[in-house]
Amino acid sequence: MLACTVTIKDSTTSPLLQPEPHDSYYMELALQQAALAPHVGEVPIGAVLVRNHEVIAAGHNYREISQDPTAHAEMVVIRKAAEQLRTWRLTDTTLYVTLEPCPMCAGAIVQSRIARLIFGAWDPKAGACGSIFDIPAERQLNHRVQVMGGLLEQESRKLLQEFFRAKRGALSESTSPLKPAS
Ligand code: ZN
Repeated sequence: MLACTVTIKDSTTSPLLQPEPHDSYYMELALQQAALAPHVGEVPIGAVLVRNHEVIAAGHNYREISQDPTAHAEMVVIRKAAEQLRTWRLTDTTLYVTLEPCPMCAGAIVQSRIARLIFGAWDPKAGACGSIFDIPAERQLNHRVQVMGGLLEQESRKLLQEFFRAKRGALSESTSPLKPAS
């Protein structure tokens, strides 16, 4: 049984976006990237960019390490892929990311002409691919991205919940008045 609800949204005039057999496999790779992030103090969000069944770039958040507000997983992967392919036009690629992209990343996805976007967990607070905004479906823009949200949603969400729970735990421990003086 599928542990998640997959929402397929057709934001273009092209045929409805259908899940492809390899989508879950690549989302697993994005999840593996996300799982690496907490080891270096980063929020567990991972992304993978694929073209013709080849992984062009993979990565996770680097905002803390780089102290760069734009170093979201999607931006990291888009930059790496553009460098790798020596072009800003990432046409015919699919971006897999464990969390619904924010407005900045959704904008970058449109700008880089990515064809398909598959994400894991919905982000009702900051998501810009159907939650609070729907940038990939914006008819005023000259490129539209096919979007599917909710693939391996539970797994993606669990990584984030565990990370923030551990962080809260560490915080309350360090501020606890019962902590013995060392
Ligand atoms: Zn973002």
